[in-house]
Amino acid sequence: MRNLAFVLLFATSIEAQTVTIRAGRLLDGRGGSTSNSTITVVGGTISAVGGRKSPGVTYDLTRYTVLPGLIDGHDHVGWYFNKKDRFHSGQDGETVIDESLAAAGNAQTTLLAGWTTIASPGANADAPLRDAIARGVIPGPRILTSLQPLTSDRLTPDSIRAIIRRRKTEGADFIKIFASASIRDGGKQTWSDEQLAAGCGEAKAIGLRTMVHAHSAEAAKAATLAGCTQIEHGVFVTQEVLDLMAARGTYFDPQCGLVFHNYLDNREKYDGIGNYNEAGFASMEKALPTAANVIRLASRTPNLKVVFGTDAVAGAHGRNAEELTCRVKEGGQSPMAAIISATSLNAESMGLGAEIGSIAAGFQADIIAVDGDPTKDITALGRVVFVMKGGKVYKHP
Ligand SMILES: [Zn+2]
Repeated sequence: MRNLAFVLLFATSIEAQTVTIRAGRLLDGRGGSTSNSTITVVGGTISAVGGRKSPGVTYDLTRYTVLPGLIDGHDHVGWYFNKKDRFHSGQDGETVIDESLAAAGNAQTTLLAGWTTIASPGANADAPLRDAIARGVIPGPRILTSLQPLTSDRLTPDSIRAIIRRRKTEGADFIKIFASASIRDGGKQTWSDEQLAAGCGEAKAIGLRTMVHAHSAEAAKAATLAGCTQIEHGVFVTQEVLDLMAARGTYFDPQCGLVFHNYLDNREKYDGIGNYNEAGFASMEKALPTAANVIRLASRTPNLKVVFGTDAVAGAHGRNAEELTCRVKEGGQSPMAAIISATSLNAESMGLGAEIGSIAAGFQADIIAVDGDPTKDITALGRVVFVMKGGKVYKHP
């Protein structure tokens, strides 16, 4: 008798793990679009996607567009405004607890806005945040982190290789390198070709991808020739460099506007800290049309893998979809290409192309729904009504 009760209880709990979602419109993250599909999720995984009309679905999202959880390839989840409503930096009286709570808050805000995976390039504090989210301690997106980036242009090739090997043992998911100055300081190349070859070569040899901050055309070109995996920003890249990236299979992650608009919108909270000064803000204002033009050029470059990263900093968490709107409205990228960049292509760039970023059998159940059809109105991605990550629902209508 007791055994039977146990079997029944066990069967019930297995049953409870199967969830069905009816999608009015379904975008699979790879360019496919269907109407009235049903997604079956067992545990944390998508087990089937099809048109059959099963009665009594768990989540009826017939009124919405369902798509894979969004992926932000460049998100500074730990950046925040402090108790004085200023950008948190250095010794401003904030404690490690303040920092941790702010990062946890940013993570939750990001997840509820539909972003189920982010890459942070990066800070050491990302690792405990990543691990706490993975253990289900707090809600947040799946996090990949570079830990502390490599920034100094005085590192020798040998010391670069040693730091990269150490990052791997410390648990870094990828390597972040600064090959150029900030846009606020002109964006000129700072790492030599030799330093870049050492960094990107060593990372590749030990199985880590490299994400390289490069604004000037020379810096982006040097990083591409050094075999680095992905170029960030590239505000001053030329068509020649875009063609080179396409030929080499280098991923390119340009920003259209959110990062600059967010700095300008929150100017008084950043002003006077480091290079956030009169000249710095002027550079960012000037970069806006240039940045949109880079999106335009990149989108039209044959075979160029244009991935998606917002560079979200303090003030931008949860607003990530505004960058997709900018891409389409200011940069002229097609809405479907923008959606693919933030789903399956981003997953592929992270080496997770068979796990996340697509709605198909066998993938992680990272599923969101938005109010409207983002292929016609990209701003619909800012109206997220349903969020499931790894089969767990965090938001529903
Ligand atoms: Zn950044």
